[in-house]
Amino acid sequence: ESRPLRSRLKSTGEATAILPTETTSPITVIGTEAIRDTFDEGCLQQAINSRRAPGVTEVVLNPDAHLGYGAPVGCVMVSPTHVYPGPVGVDIKCSMSLLQLDLPADAIEDRKTRRALISAICQRTPTGAGRGQRSAAKSRPVNRTVGKQLVTEGASVAVCDQLGIPSEWAECCEDSFHLGHDETRDALAMRLDRLLEQRHMSNFSDKMTQLGSYGGGNHFGECEVVDVAKDDRAQRAAQTFGLQDGNVAFLSHCGSRGFGHNLASGQFKTLQDKFSQWGIPLPAQDRQLVYAPLGTPEANDYLDDMALGANFATVNHLMINALVLEAFQEVIPGTQGSLVYFISHNIARKEIVNNQPAWVHRKGATRAFPGGHHSLRGTRYAETGHPILLPGNPRDGSAVMVADEGAAQACFSVNHGAGRILGRRHAKRVLDQATIDTELDQHDVLSNCRQYPMDEAPAAYKDFEEVLRSVKMAGLASEVARLKARFVIKD
Ligand code: 5GP
Ligand code: MN
Ligand code: MN
Repeated sequence: ESRPLRSRLKSTGEATAILPTETTSPITVIGTEAIRDTFDEGCLQQAINSRRAPGVTEVVLNPDAHLGYGAPVGCVMVSPTHVYPGPVGVDIKCSMSLLQLDLPADAIEDRKTRRALISAICQRTPTGAGRGQRSAAKSRPVNRTVGKQLVTEGASVAVCDQLGIPSEWAECCEDSFHLGHDETRDALAMRLDRLLEQRHMSNFSDKMTQLGSYGGGNHFGECEVVDVAKDDRAQRAAQTFGLQDGNVAFLSHCGSRGFGHNLASGQFKTLQDKFSQWGIPLPAQDRQLVYAPLGTPEANDYLDDMALGANFATVNHLMINALVLEAFQEVIPGTQGSLVYFISHNIARKEIVNNQPAWVHRKGATRAFPGGHHSLRGTRYAETGHPILLPGNPRDGSAVMVADEGAAQACFSVNHGAGRILGRRHAKRVLDQATIDTELDQHDVLSNCRQYPMDEAPAAYKDFEEVLRSVKMAGLASEVARLKARFVIKD
């Protein structure tokens, strides 16, 4: 059929729709009509390819959806029988974390103070591809032994103690550690030993020195002022989350750095080679839609590698938060900080879907368990639901949300941001550097960049208000707080 895929979207509500695939049950689509208009053909075709892929039982397309590798960014893909490395992507466990500081907004009003904070943070947690920690972080060395321990244990008490991370932060993580395919740590240790014998892992020690760094591209650190919503439910949730209205907070976005990239690209290569050996065709434009049936050695190796990368990402985020807190304390002595939450948007998790265990692949999607969800039993979030960290852009702000019952229709997931509307090259071609810089200046948002990267400009992303409206109208989640950016650190 040549009819554009977008015209096949059938509205089922003001902010929900379905996309029929002809051979399977339809794809669930979240977004108002204005948002659905942002879905290009490539993205919709990828969603259909993902839905029709072997063993896949559900696909959800979120408001931030756009073309990705192997599956759209901004989608959820569920399978009880197969694991898909593509939807996890090359940055295993790319995540958001939020640190609450006990500083009133006034404390950073002065631009000189903000400049001092930018430089203290950049000294400790550098940005840029391939960069590791700088001198100020030398008090927290990550040698090979600690490296092996942290990628197999995640944020264990022993690992946190050695790296100067407050170990109670582990309780404010979606997952503070990941186990191997058989749910043991031993499987990870054995897999790591095998990997270390291979040539492409010979740089393991170097990769470990990247702990506590942001990396390049879309990753960022951003200083915020918290504005808690006025309704009772938001106020209660904010209290449970440790959010302080009117105070400063710090939002971080990054993943598993070079280590995760090595693991993921190794897996893509291995599986693509296997697919050609076995003569299994892949969609021409989607060579990353490879998979492995659960229980096979291929699936076991992938799940182990994903866990190793995810453990690195976890400790990386906690380390960054510890270093950011240290930077605040250097500039404003006596500052106290506590982690609000750490949550991923590039990971596959084993969850119960329709009463059976399945791998829920979130590719640019955030887990959204409402209060009362069985998985939150025994945690501080049992009654409220856990925090959802939703970045928008540095001009229009970001949000902290909490899931509602309606999240079930989206496999207990929401989007992971506003989502790109202009491709990187397109953005560089059509946006104007001076306008971007002036606009951020007018909003009094400082940056470490002399010129803000054009492909990361607010205008390169979808309308954040319309994205939030979609999430709320579809009944997925409610707002707890808005975050207003005061400075942003980017590559
Ligand atoms: P990713 O790059 O992981 O796919 O998406 C992250 C999300 O973060 C994007 O969809 C976008 O909405 C948001 N984002 C990108 N850059 C910034 C930034 O500098 N500040 C904030 N607050 N959000 C951002
Ligand atoms: Mn990433
Ligand atoms: Mn990310």
